[in-house]
Amino acid sequence: MFENLSERLGGVFDRLTKQGALSEDDVKTALREVRVALLEADVSLPVARQFVKAVEKKATGAAVTKSVTPGQQVVKIVHDELIAVLSGEGEPGKLKIDNPPAPILMVGLQGGGKTTTTAKLAKRLKERDGKKVLMASLDVNRPAAMEQLAILGTQIGVDTLPIVKGEDPVAIAKRAKTQAGLGGYDVYLLDTAGRLSIDEELMRQVEAVRDVANPRETLLVVDGLTGQDAVHTAENFDTRVGITGVVLTRMDGDGRGGAALSMRAITGKPIKFVGLGEKMDALETFEPDRIAGRILG
Ligand code: GDP
Repeated sequence: MFENLSERLGGVFDRLTKQGALSEDDVKTALREVRVALLEADVSLPVARQFVKAVEKKATGAAVTKSVTPGQQVVKIVHDELIAVLSGEGEPGKLKIDNPPAPILMVGLQGGGKTTTTAKLAKRLKERDGKKVLMASLDVNRPAAMEQLAILGTQIGVDTLPIVKGEDPVAIAKRAKTQAGLGGYDVYLLDTAGRLSIDEELMRQVEAVRDVANPRETLLVVDGLTGQDAVHTAENFDTRVGITGVVLTRMDGDGRGGAALSMRAITGKPIKFVGLGEKMDALETFEPDRIAGRILG
């Protein structure tokens, strides 16, 4: 997920920790290299700048302790700063799903992995949290997408709202709500339609669905391989419909990982989960300390 970044930072820190004493210039050079590594990983420029500034400030102010070398101390500061830049409020992976039936709205662009993630999340809620889950596809323009969700539902043993031809997304959302109430479901997931790019019609449709569903969580599903584009998509969706969190997909690919590092700082919204493959189990809680550990190798 962060192989290149990890390798680059590893090189910088190897050199740094091998030295006994560090001059201010040594630290400056190392931090310049950290900044380049972050930019190469497609972290946005203001985030990379801010990150290095924060590390520099702490490194110069850090009390020298005998137990670690100055280089190790810098690495520790980078580690803590990575956690800070990745962290959101609340417990990682926790969703607001009390007061059943709790609606969760899944939004995003077409091809980002929304339908797959909806099913993965449903499976997780069912198996880990013991919830009774209902899924509904609102993608009326793509019957294949509605079928896809139904097939995944059968595969994972989660109910899907029966497909009624000719119904619009708002009517489906209302029917899902009624069905979830009557059927004693804890959670219902609304898989909205995606488009290849953000357009007015898509946003209006998602807004209309949001207004009737009043979701407890609105999760943006976005392809992590698209780097800074993923962050822009999140900004756009947040401005229009208001999101509560992000799921970054395709983090099993050879992406540079920058989206993960910029997301929280730029949008103010936490990454809740990462998608690590096509299989229904390939959804992981986004845990900042584990991710920071992975980046620093
Ligand atoms: P949607 O149009 O946003 O609903 O996207 P889909 O859920 O149909 O996903 C598009 C493709 O991406 C499918 O082939 C999925 O199997 C694949 N996909 C989704 N999430 C992941 C992931 O985390 N990793 C990988 N490698 N593939 C994924």
